[in-house]
Amino acid sequence: MKSFAYVRAGSVEEAADAYASRPGARYLAGGTNLVDLMKLGVERPATLVDVSRLPLDTVEELPDGALRIGATVRNSDLAAHPMVRDRYPVLSQALLAGASGQLRNLATTGGNLLQRTRCPYFQDTGKPCNKREPGSGCGALDGVHRDHAVLGHSSRCIATHPSDMAVALAALDAHIELYGPDGERVLPAAEFHRLPGEHPERDTEIRPGELITGVVLPAAPAGLPSLYRKARDRASYAFALASVAVVLETADGVVRHAGIAFGALAPRPWRARIAEEALLGAAPTAAAFEHAVDLELAAAQPLRDNAYKVRLARNLALDVLSRLAPATA
Ligand code: SF4
Repeated sequence: MKSFAYVRAGSVEEAADAYASRPGARYLAGGTNLVDLMKLGVERPATLVDVSRLPLDTVEELPDGALRIGATVRNSDLAAHPMVRDRYPVLSQALLAGASGQLRNLATTGGNLLQRTRCPYFQDTGKPCNKREPGSGCGALDGVHRDHAVLGHSSRCIATHPSDMAVALAALDAHIELYGPDGERVLPAAEFHRLPGEHPERDTEIRPGELITGVVLPAAPAGLPSLYRKARDRASYAFALASVAVVLETADGVVRHAGIAFGALAPRPWRARIAEEALLGAAPTAAAFEHAVDLELAAAQPLRDNAYKVRLARNLALDVLSRLAPATA
């Protein structure tokens, strides 16, 4: 591993200043992904600015009933938090579906959002990868890509985003709070990660030096009808082959609100706006669910070896929608 300098920040402002004054700096929180990438030689920061002890480790209810989650709240603490379990079960389920207990004890909310793809070509410095080294090519395009994207990919990159938590945040209409050289900024969670296009090296809309300070969930009633389901090669400690987070609210026999996001299908959590729109005002029937999900997945462009993902995602979504419908009708 390349040697690096280490700075521990005492405040958000101090962290941003340290980052700005040290070219090649990276923020360090739980380090569960960054340190692995440093060992592999994929990340080679000149300085680590440690933000893990900033006072961003609380979950608090805001006056309007929204929930603010500090960026350094650990994934295990967030999953177990009574207000999250009670009001946003889909988030708690998504967190518990990710990684292992040990990793969740260390990984933070902000770090989870910023984790990099687990595309094996990205992690191998001996292989071409436009995300790691722009212009070098994409080893996965004609290589092993069973786990890669079926939506939103480009000829430059076909990687998927690995987070489970981010999929739930997209379905919940969460917002990401940022602090950087230009002050504070807020982005919708569903627009925080970007599609690769011509620039797969940029995973998110975050600007240089910006730090995630928190995530805000809109107010929700106790027991918000929501579910997360994940299909993977083994029952734990594995990334998704496909996943889905759904919030479904009905009244008077029709759908009043649907928040649907797919995971592991695209370079970012895939907010299923077409399916949501199709469901609004419709009776929550199996036929309506099939119609909506098929409309959404019609845009899929599977690769040579991953067409199975489209059917898998369809089956997951239909299962989750049908489980939520009886409880809300
Ligand atoms: Fe790199 Fe993306 Fe291609 Fe993987 S899919 S090798 S991350 S460019």
